[in-house]
Amino acid sequence: MAFKPANNIQDLQYFGEFGGVNPSISDSSTYTFLSAKTMFDTFEGNADGCYLYSRHSSPSNLYLGEALAAMEGTETANVTASGMGAITPVIMQLCGAGDHIVSSRTIYGGTYAFLKNFTPRFNIETCFVDITKLDVVEAAITKNTKVLYCESVSNPLLEVADIEGLSKIAKKHNLKLVVDNTFSPLSISPAKLGADVVIHSLTKFINGSSDTVGGVVCGTQEFINDLRNVNDGACMLLGSTMDSLRSASVLKNLRTLHIRMQQHSKNASYLAKKFEKDGLKTVYPGLASHPSHELFKSMMNKQYGFGGMLTIDVGSLDKANELMEMMQEKNLGYLAVSLGFYKTLFSAPGSSTSSEIPEDEQQEMGLSDGLIRFSIGLDADIERTYNMMKSCMLKIGIEFN
Ligand SMILES: *Cc1c(COP(=O)(O)O)cnc(C)c1O
Repeated sequence: MAFKPANNIQDLQYFGEFGGVNPSISDSSTYTFLSAKTMFDTFEGNADGCYLYSRHSSPSNLYLGEALAAMEGTETANVTASGMGAITPVIMQLCGAGDHIVSSRTIYGGTYAFLKNFTPRFNIETCFVDITKLDVVEAAITKNTKVLYCESVSNPLLEVADIEGLSKIAKKHNLKLVVDNTFSPLSISPAKLGADVVIHSLTKFINGSSDTVGGVVCGTQEFINDLRNVNDGACMLLGSTMDSLRSASVLKNLRTLHIRMQQHSKNASYLAKKFEKDGLKTVYPGLASHPSHELFKSMMNKQYGFGGMLTIDVGSLDKANELMEMMQEKNLGYLAVSLGFYKTLFSAPGSSTSSEIPEDEQQEMGLSDGLIRFSIGLDADIERTYNMMKSCMLKIGIEFN
């Protein structure tokens, strides 16, 4: 039977302590115990339903975590203060000195910088590969490899990972497959395709209102317990905890995610098809010309579409900058990093979100100067948006068919 992530969220039932239709927000950093013995047991991780201290867990964070676990189809989840606050403890939990990681080379700039510049301090080395080539991925595995890391749809090039194929390789070599699913919530369910750990930056589509950063790690109860362990858990010890007020707010936004994703996908698909037809270099997983179009189709939960992200290469950084400034002036969206907002957001990743990646490596992976990344908004009239975008492009001399 098809996996229905939005139904799983819808079917959860939480009440507030006074019968409120929203769960009460836990407004405490610490919790009392009736007996000293229960406090001890809670420290040892043996007292279910008892709370100790809010860096460890809090009712509000557990509610949000359970909703996200339901969405991803994992046993449980742990929410964190940011996406990086989810990614870094997962890596540090799974790897120690001498260990090795095989990672996609097209990943979020912050993750790339962490693996390239930061983890080597702990003698954890990463080999960056073209994740779309399974033979290349497998050949990069050494006897010290512990983790296979990728994004389901990569930032910013929108490469698509064959999660089932990667999962087979991971199982064969006894590795953990960690997938950042930030670009494709609901559309792709990595755990159902064999991922061991699924991560999101909640900052993007899931929260959807560009008012906070947040993150989540979805996985088995055992792994999440490990992350929260008071003695050696990376989430507990590195301390990137989400505040309860914020998790209550993200939970409320999560409830409209399915509607928003459908609209983001519908609008992005409309624009991608139009601009491709106009002869612009357009990348969108929903286009038949996308190298992984069929793969995405085979993995996706159909009703949510191919997502809200697309890229257009306008030829040069100068043109890209001129176009982005003009589109902002016409109120078509904002010249801003990040994604998943109700307005369209655009940026040139080569000089912003992926600037951590050295220029020669950018070239090698096909990240050109004139590339603009769009997070398409929830515009009610996308035809009007298209016409306005087109007139900006024509004004600065971008050639159409
Ligand atoms: C934004 C982003 C992150 C980092 O998340 P923060 O919430 O900014 O810490 C990680 N991965 C991807 C794919 C992202 O887009």
